[in-house]
Amino acid sequence: MMKTAVEFDKKNLLASGHRACGGCAQALACRMVLDAAGKNTIACVATGCLEVFSGPYPDPSWRIPFLHSLFENSAAVAAGVEVAYRALKKAPVNVLAMGGDGSTADIGFQCISGMFERGHNVLYVCYDNEAYMNTGVQRSSFTPFGAKTTTTPAGNRFHKKDLPQLAVVHGVPYVATATVDDYHDLQRKVKTALSIHGPKYLHVYAPCPLGWGHAGDMSIAISRLAKETCLFPVYEIKDGKLVSVVKIPVKKPVEEYLKVQGRFRHLFKKGVPTTEVELIQEIANQNIERFNL
Ligand code: SF4
Repeated sequence: MMKTAVEFDKKNLLASGHRACGGCAQALACRMVLDAAGKNTIACVATGCLEVFSGPYPDPSWRIPFLHSLFENSAAVAAGVEVAYRALKKAPVNVLAMGGDGSTADIGFQCISGMFERGHNVLYVCYDNEAYMNTGVQRSSFTPFGAKTTTTPAGNRFHKKDLPQLAVVHGVPYVATATVDDYHDLQRKVKTALSIHGPKYLHVYAPCPLGWGHAGDMSIAISRLAKETCLFPVYEIKDGKLVSVVKIPVKKPVEEYLKVQGRFRHLFKKGVPTTEVELIQEIANQNIERFNL
């Protein structure tokens, strides 16, 4: 017998009815992560869109224990939960810390670094939408070169911080990147991470229709374009060694990715690419060389 929509939704650990914008890839990614992690999971979530749209009393969407931390300390809260479980000799549980790019790359990096360095058995998941979306689309240190935000109206002049690499140099045993257009790859990486003892870092690319200026139904296509233009390499690093890379046999020019997003529209004067587009292509070329895409 066919399941009703309500029965089907009961399987989702991030239930529908949350207040994310239509097409929000962060909401989709979080649902995929929780689906892979399963019910025996505690999520410690930094302030940000994810917490705002899914968490507040009285109607949270979480069907697992959920702790709302401050903007800066989801990794420290998760570390505390992990230690408490060990001290109380409770049955093992998956402890996840989660945050957007602002709470990961900028405000919360100190606590993440400490969690990594002390070797807590925690999976940190960053949903990277490349700006501070819940406070009004301000630049973060994950905002890519050239992107327009409310604090970079002429386009961002800085290059994106490489947090996966920073996790590797902390000695984190498992570091991976993933996109929402490849459900199986993302879920396999969550399961792999949770099978490894110690700190883990998963970086998920998460298009934001509101902040990036694209239609809600384009989030999957834009995730795919980010990979196909080699601007977002998808890979896994175990014990400091690159063990898998999603190869891109037919590489697309970065223009195909840039032109479909309002945040890059100023890079095309009357449809003609500016020198910034060449610089962005150079970033893609460097990724091709570095990861042998
Ligand atoms: S602003 Fe962006 S990240 Fe936040 S809920 Fe909307 S689409 Fe998602």
